[in-house]
Amino acid sequence: MTDPTRNEEVPETGHDDEVQSEFEMTPDLMRDLGHRTVELLVKRLHGLPEESAWDGDFRKSLEAVLLEEPPEEGSAPDEVIERVAQEVLPYAIRLDHPRCFSFVPSAPTWPGILADFIASGYNFNVCTWLVASGPSQLELVVIDWFRRWVGYPDGAGGLLTSGGSAAALNAFVAAREAAGNPERPTVYMSDQSHSAQIRSARIVGVRPECIRTVPIDGTLRLDMDALARAVADDRAAGFCPMVVCANAGATGNGAIDPLVEMADFCESEGIWLHTDASYGGFAMLTAEGRKLLEGIERSDSIALDGHKWLFQPYEVGGLLVKDLRTLENTFSVQHDALQDTIWGENHPNFSDRGLQLSRGFRALKIWMSIQTFGVAAFRRAVSRSMELAARAGEQVRESSILELLAPVSLGIVCFRINPADTPIDEEDLHEVNRTVLARMLWEDRAMMSSTVVENRFSLRLCIINHNTTWNDVSETLRFIEQTGREQLAR
Ligand SMILES: *Cc1c(COP(=O)(O)O)cnc(C)c1O
Repeated sequence: MTDPTRNEEVPETGHDDEVQSEFEMTPDLMRDLGHRTVELLVKRLHGLPEESAWDGDFRKSLEAVLLEEPPEEGSAPDEVIERVAQEVLPYAIRLDHPRCFSFVPSAPTWPGILADFIASGYNFNVCTWLVASGPSQLELVVIDWFRRWVGYPDGAGGLLTSGGSAAALNAFVAAREAAGNPERPTVYMSDQSHSAQIRSARIVGVRPECIRTVPIDGTLRLDMDALARAVADDRAAGFCPMVVCANAGATGNGAIDPLVEMADFCESEGIWLHTDASYGGFAMLTAEGRKLLEGIERSDSIALDGHKWLFQPYEVGGLLVKDLRTLENTFSVQHDALQDTIWGENHPNFSDRGLQLSRGFRALKIWMSIQTFGVAAFRRAVSRSMELAARAGEQVRESSILELLAPVSLGIVCFRINPADTPIDEEDLHEVNRTVLARMLWEDRAMMSSTVVENRFSLRLCIINHNTTWNDVSETLRFIEQTGREQLAR
């Protein structure tokens, strides 16, 4: 292949207006590279079940291959693609693998993947209406879909973000403004809450010792009495309770806080309620999910993650606020160089709703996937995850060597190897379970991760991939039982 970066006609020193960009490629070459790229992706996706769910390497080995001076001269573009395919792309967890049950899997739809390609090809910047009215309108549409799914009223709104962390941060800034930027703010969350809430609290200036961890009850839900006591004590001591965080699906175990009681409490106390539905929010597509997350629509803000249970490629999350003004009052700042972007009636500038000015066109992937498959397909996929998890939970309960450690919730199963008929001390149990987890990584195609449930080491299956079958789940459980038996016999 010819090297397009070595363009013979370009003069050495170019003050000439006729100078052609050195980055230009011919249409044929562009197509050829595009086809190669598509081929790479389609082959990978269709070959996934035959691969293992995880691959990785040590820095030393990767550095030996990759660390170099930035090359002064270019290489043939097909060789660049080939090189990255060999040397970089394989060394990562395959979050979209049907037997990847660790952390939070993410299995994007093909239209979603193509949408990201289109969005970068057009290079939209969804900062303001003037700069991107079509894309801004589509983001309004997608946000409106989210609004309906969570059950928010008209007048609610929000924006798409890089993920749940950015959504939480924007929410905390809005909450601080709504509380009048208090001097001694405190925030409240259960010990099951995601680190993103703690980080957001720190960023908005809450002192680390003012981030209150509220105890949980026997079902891993925030304890309301403990919350009420903590708030009362803080008020008495001159603190200003600013945000209460609710889990609508804790990442570790899917636990759902008592959303209705928390909404009642926060309304009567005048405290901002932020619900972190980054993990579980799209369960709202299903009847079962709506029942489980009842009350979510009463929170002041809700974080969602499209790159989790809505099957989108990274990065897309969303923040919704019940009263859109709380977000716009917080983030809209006049800027002289952007004065032309105040254009037309009722044209929102998304840069006035959050921390980013330049913003990618994240709405496109969600919109294209939903247009292509319809909401019903997403609803079925989310339901099926919950069914598979429930079935896995039953199998764990029936097993003589497995023990369920938490109620199965929103696609997550927490359990461990712990034979019912043989008492084993905690330290040995810990060792056996860790070993089985490690053996799965090296000997099996599947991957799962672990967590801690009430001070006990727990294996954790997170089943939210639309490609995962019952066979994938049951084979994985079988592997755990079998290697568990082997380890126990040692
Ligand atoms: C994933 C997750 C987050 C963080 O979201 P990012 O998209 O990774 O920024 C926050 N909370 C919960 C419950 C999550 O599952």
